[in-house]
Amino acid sequence: MHRQISRIPIGISSCLLGEHVRFDGGHKYDRFINRRLADFLEFRPFCPEVAIGLGIPREPIRLVRSAQGVRVQGVKNSALDVTDQLGDYGSRVARKLDDVCGYIFKSRSPSCGMERVKTWTGSGQPDKSDGTGAFAQAIMQAHPNMPCEEEGRLNDPDLRDNFIERIFTLYRWKQLLQHGITPARLVDFHTRHKLGVMAHNQAAYRRLGQLVATAGRKRFRELYANYETELMTAMKRHATRKSHSNVLQHLQGYFSRQLAPGDRAELVSLIDDYRLGLVPLAAPLTLIRHHLRHYPNDWALQQTYLDPYPRELSGTPFQAGSSHQ
Ligand code: SF4
Repeated sequence: MHRQISRIPIGISSCLLGEHVRFDGGHKYDRFINRRLADFLEFRPFCPEVAIGLGIPREPIRLVRSAQGVRVQGVKNSALDVTDQLGDYGSRVARKLDDVCGYIFKSRSPSCGMERVKTWTGSGQPDKSDGTGAFAQAIMQAHPNMPCEEEGRLNDPDLRDNFIERIFTLYRWKQLLQHGITPARLVDFHTRHKLGVMAHNQAAYRRLGQLVATAGRKRFRELYANYETELMTAMKRHATRKSHSNVLQHLQGYFSRQLAPGDRAELVSLIDDYRLGLVPLAAPLTLIRHHLRHYPNDWALQQTYLDPYPRELSGTPFQAGSSHQ
């Protein structure tokens, strides 16, 4: 199914693609991004520091805490203050990202860092690590529902899976908007995503159901904006083994009566093994997909939960991260 979709557009810090745009003329090529994600994602690269005219090579900049708030200033020359240029450029780029379904930022950068960027005092002493790059901040403010991550965090399997799942969810949502959303299409979209949302956030699952129930009565434009925000916020919360186990048990209810007792016991035991951390999620999911092929159920088969994104992106045979080549 996923092989037929076009590559999904996402924004990215140019240096992560291997472009020589860093202050010292170097790059931060990332193998996982370039070798694995590139098969499914179409990258829109931006280097804000080059775009605002700082040049290559250039004086390094950093976040400095001052009476005017956190500023982006030159390391050697504090008179160089590019906070507003980076923010303005971010706002201009943000206006071009309406079709984009995610963003990968370069970590620790005073321009691109998404969080925990090092800050300095006005006298040049290390301060905290709680800053956000000025460009990244403008992008995230303009697109609060867009999945955003940093390349380093993609080393964590849970963060990576969650990010990829959100990209594909937002992509399906944008496709729906592009093809023309109607109350009936919203109900269909919501139905297909029910178990996926349930795995992430039970309370949001109920709120989304209530929202959809008002389709056709409330002002529709307002309703689908609320739906998008609620959906993407719900998906951001990480699904746990417990919540996945609940969804797996729910799914097996659609065919378990048709299973031979031995097959039913095998599935129950596998879900239990998953809940206890003995096997990965793919184990019970694969068996459920197998049983659904033999005992099809239309409602269960349309759940995006069964295949939230291409299986090639689940797990990775090589470690994510930077590799200068
Ligand atoms: S982190 Fe951002 S500003 Fe720095 S080189 Fe990479 S793309 Fe350019």
